[in-house]
Amino acid sequence: MNAAVIEVAGLRKRYGEFTAVDGISFDVRKGEVFALLGTNGAGKTTTIEILEGYLKASGGTARVFGHDPADRGPLRSRIGVVLQESGLFGDLSAAETVTAWRRFTSGARPVAEALELVGLSGQASTRVKRMSGGERRKLDIALATLGRPELLFLDEPTTGLDPEARRRVRDLVGELAGAGMTVLLTTHYLEEAQELAARVAIMDKGRIVTHGTMAEVLGRGSGRVAFDLPGGATPEGLPVGERDALTVTGRRCVIVTAEPESVAHSVLGWAHTRGLKLTGFDVRQATLEEVFLDIAHHSGQEVTT
Ligand code: ATP
Repeated sequence: MNAAVIEVAGLRKRYGEFTAVDGISFDVRKGEVFALLGTNGAGKTTTIEILEGYLKASGGTARVFGHDPADRGPLRSRIGVVLQESGLFGDLSAAETVTAWRRFTSGARPVAEALELVGLSGQASTRVKRMSGGERRKLDIALATLGRPELLFLDEPTTGLDPEARRRVRDLVGELAGAGMTVLLTTHYLEEAQELAARVAIMDKGRIVTHGTMAEVLGRGSGRVAFDLPGGATPEGLPVGERDALTVTGRRCVIVTAEPESVAHSVLGWAHTRGLKLTGFDVRQATLEEVFLDIAHHSGQEVTT
């Protein structure tokens, strides 16, 4: 198992009487993309800001490369941060922005390499105010990775981007991770997290509700068994367990179940005994979005994904 880059144990943050982070524990290992997800106000940004050294915890411990993140000296050159809001100057070109940033970054990549890395070589002389949202986000990432950090914090890197720009930024994050960078990602785009992250933690009201490898977390959600009933057949006697839910829309039957494989098996047996041929048969695990919505539903939250 890879070494832990981030170790969080019993972490708490209080704002007066309000507890924003309520005793959470997780770790992020070297070279992995870890997604910290959650409902609005769950405490993700607070957690990340503690790890970045911008906020002080009220209790528990947080370690980044074995250091207290408040002790920023030894960590500064090892960490890159992409904040939710970027603070770029509109009148500077992309190349001028990188040039200015290089003055404050030790071991910085050359300008051309930094732009090339994020696919902005063609926009080197474009002023920031003329760049698209996706291009600006890439420039943010170019700046955050300028000093070749080992750990990158990405707080909602694709919010507000169109699907194509999101895809490009997502590919870029995948490439950076593929090159060995450790990434702590927050996002409300769950398919993005599902694609990029090896491990995930989902927060709600300051606590981690579920966490583990992506496969473990998806396996804890409810899967789906779906099929079309042939004309004339009725869903009578379908093997639907007490904890499963069957919906029938026209001829389409969908069973939501914690045990999709065994329900699929029983459904095929049920059809076979009746001499029915089912079409459009589909068995799948929960998606991350379904796991998330389930958590949000039980929490009674309005959900914005
Ligand atoms: P979102 O997905 O909406 O960005 P989040 O999970 O990042 O949410 P945080 O920004 O960490 O959530 O906020 C957690 C909670 O702490 C929220 O209820 C927020 O209102 C509260 N909070 C954050 N900063 C402060 C502060 N300085 N004073 C008081 N409460 C705060």
